[in-house]
Amino acid sequence: MRQDDGEALVAKDARHVLHPWADLSALGTGTSLVVTEASGVEVVDAAGRKYLDAIGGMWCVTVGYGRQELVDAMSAQASRMPYFTPFADVSNEPAAELAATLAELSPGDLNRVHFTTCGSTAVDSAVRIAHLYFAAQGRPEKRHVLSRTDAYHGSTYLGASLSGKEADRTRFHYENEWVHHLESPGYDPDTSPVTAAERLAGLLEGMEAAIAALGADTIACFVAEPVLASGGVLVPPPGYHEATRELCRRHDILYISDEVVTGFGRLGHFFASEARFGIVPDLLVTAKGLTSGYQPLGAVLISDRIADALARTADPAKPVFSNGFTYSGHPVACATALANIEVMRREDVCGHVRDVGPYFVGRLRELRASPIVAAVRGDHLMACVECHVPGESGPTLRNQALAARVDRHCETSGLLVRPFENLCIMSPPLVVTKGEIDRIVDIMADALARAERDLRDEGIG
Ligand code: PLP
Repeated sequence: MRQDDGEALVAKDARHVLHPWADLSALGTGTSLVVTEASGVEVVDAAGRKYLDAIGGMWCVTVGYGRQELVDAMSAQASRMPYFTPFADVSNEPAAELAATLAELSPGDLNRVHFTTCGSTAVDSAVRIAHLYFAAQGRPEKRHVLSRTDAYHGSTYLGASLSGKEADRTRFHYENEWVHHLESPGYDPDTSPVTAAERLAGLLEGMEAAIAALGADTIACFVAEPVLASGGVLVPPPGYHEATRELCRRHDILYISDEVVTGFGRLGHFFASEARFGIVPDLLVTAKGLTSGYQPLGAVLISDRIADALARTADPAKPVFSNGFTYSGHPVACATALANIEVMRREDVCGHVRDVGPYFVGRLRELRASPIVAAVRGDHLMACVECHVPGESGPTLRNQALAARVDRHCETSGLLVRPFENLCIMSPPLVVTKGEIDRIVDIMADALARAERDLRDEGIG
């Protein structure tokens, strides 16, 4: 791209696009990194600068950029039959094939699939299915939903209401009457003053107390990311998933596992719920890595038990599943997902993640030697480095500014990480090699050293 064209593009974007999570105070004044090309684990901006993408697009580019097989699948399906309605008794070939493949890949009896357009619409749909499930049994009062502080479940009205990141609660309206947030479940053995067992006991006590306070007969479901992603890569203490699953079972509360990030290989398995954490949820939500980000697509996997109960509804009202989207089961997106799964299986991408994941987290943990690193945590290919001005903890303004500085130093050295509060979050494409991991860690180490020098020059820290 010519330099003039690149500059014009950046100007058009700055003038006309309202980006997700844009800083409104800078609207119309700041500019964005306009990415024009991508290949492997690298992206190129409008000025021709190359970056190693340690964000994986947005947790979603798993098999890497420029995969011809995925492009061919998209193109072939678009030529053959780009779109037709998915409503009621109409379907298409890739959607039927993909639903059967997802049933095969997923744990337990999650054999029925409702396609959506993205993660948010899948979370939304899963909660609605939980409501419908209880209404179908003549128990519509079971409608309250348990989520967690620091969770992120999307940007629809309901997804945003379920999300529990304080920083995201702005002047929008949220559903606060029947959505409730339990304590954030992260446990970091490096920094926690209590043992994992104590932490687990406290979390379970809190959940039991919330169930008792609301009354189990008013609660429809519990929505949980196996590892909280955007909230800061928060890993719960061992045993948390099994114990919360058991609590839900005991109180007839449906368990919705939000695997929008953890699914499709990020933790070394197609789905983490059972393979990593030993639980089979009632409903499982997936998106992102499902198509490796090449097409927008989400899905809710529904257990046969739930689907059968919906079919046997005692509800005297017309038993119609009045939920779905024009682009549910979009044929081009589903064909892309099938090609993506084919690549993942053939190349054993999950096996690769199980190999490089511990190396990634292990190498990142070396960065704890820096005085401006408060913590490093993660699981396989989702990780974060928490920055702090020595002696200052949490997402204070100074700590956030420091992390933003580390982020900028990374960017000028050709590495993209995702800044959130005082965290630098990383989720590289799953095909990342150990050599590329070394590059990520080396650039990050250098960025931390530069940011620390900046602090000293400014007389801070
Ligand atoms: N759930 C989780 C765990 C997510 O991380 C996200 C997005 O980051 C969503 C749901 C929403 O997905 P989408 O942005 O595709 O709507």
